[in-house]
Amino acid sequence: MAVIAAQQTSGKVVIRNVGLMLSGDIDRPILDADTVVVEDGVIVAVGRAADCDTDRARTTIDCKGTALAPGLIDSHVHPVFGDWTPRQNQLGWIESCMNGGVTTMISAGEVHLPGRPKDIVGVKALAITAQRAFDGMRAAGVGGGVKVYAGAPVIEQGMVEQDFADMAAAGVTLLGEIGLGSVKAGAVAATMVGWARKHGIQSTIHTGGPSIPGSGLIDEHVVLEADADVIGHVNGGHTSLSYRSVCTLCEKSSRALEIVHNGNERIAILTARHAIELKCPHRIILGTDSPAGSGVQPLGILRMIALLSSLADVPAEIAFGFATGNTARMRNLRQGLIEVGRPADFVFLDRAQHTAGTDLLDSVRLGDIPGVGMVMIDGLVRCGRSRNTPPAIEVPVVLPQH
Ligand SMILES: [Zn+2]
Repeated sequence: MAVIAAQQTSGKVVIRNVGLMLSGDIDRPILDADTVVVEDGVIVAVGRAADCDTDRARTTIDCKGTALAPGLIDSHVHPVFGDWTPRQNQLGWIESCMNGGVTTMISAGEVHLPGRPKDIVGVKALAITAQRAFDGMRAAGVGGGVKVYAGAPVIEQGMVEQDFADMAAAGVTLLGEIGLGSVKAGAVAATMVGWARKHGIQSTIHTGGPSIPGSGLIDEHVVLEADADVIGHVNGGHTSLSYRSVCTLCEKSSRALEIVHNGNERIAILTARHAIELKCPHRIILGTDSPAGSGVQPLGILRMIALLSSLADVPAEIAFGFATGNTARMRNLRQGLIEVGRPADFVFLDRAQHTAGTDLLDSVRLGDIPGVGMVMIDGLVRCGRSRNTPPAIEVPVVLPQH
């Protein structure tokens, strides 16, 4: 295994002629830089070409003036095992999302597993198994090399603090959506969220009406009382709370506001506007909540960026930050920012052919989806021109070595 790992490191990678460098940080969304240097999967320099050591690269990529952004993070997915989902009985959905610029996915619970265990030892065993399996899958490059953080147990009544300690000791770092199991009361959820937090496990809660038969209503009172780290699909998944209730969540909580593709679009737009009015745009993070009843949307995160930019008046470069740096901060991830020391996870973008937009950001403001020209994870090229996005006008090229 050590040999395979050694072969899979990127060595030195130079990315040059970047026309637009999106940092992922909404406080400083556009960097004055045209070059990124990577060593073994980690960013070691960002700046102007003349100021960077670009010699002796194993791989040099000419961006031809196109845009570079951190790889997109989907804050809310429901994987099961491998690159397969039983929800729509579909294969290859994770790799398909990688073609939509997604390089990291965070599980909100492996809830679609047929016969999913609901007894406590079974819940724990599944969480640990899923965490291990997706970790191993990433190492093996399955699913396009997307970093899938999974092993997110759906908490059930009767769990005690020791259960959370056991799971944390075994490598579990996430809770699945609270409310999808038997814990639906705010007070019980709050106690378990507290145990999870104490043991370093991040929590998220289902918000709104039931998603599918068997799921339930979680209203704003339960969300506030439970106080999970992430207000999961604040715009419903798909049935939303009222706008007034969502405003209450924005105003009375300081937790992450997760807006999803498989939610109510009107509330998505209103939530983004309200969070910006409240001067807490840092709390907005994006997810798809796929696979779902509406299917899998490989371009879901790009579609959310275009939706919020075109209809919620969010500057396009800020909307990219919602899907990258904001999520990284709220989720304690290293990736999600173009900055020295961060993992080299990137999506290379250009405006789509025949968009009315004059440049990439203008096209997104007009509601068009950009074209993905390349995706890189840990400094390794995972795809060239996307097979899923509208074709980018210009795509980066890997230069021959000399
Ligand atoms: Zn949900």
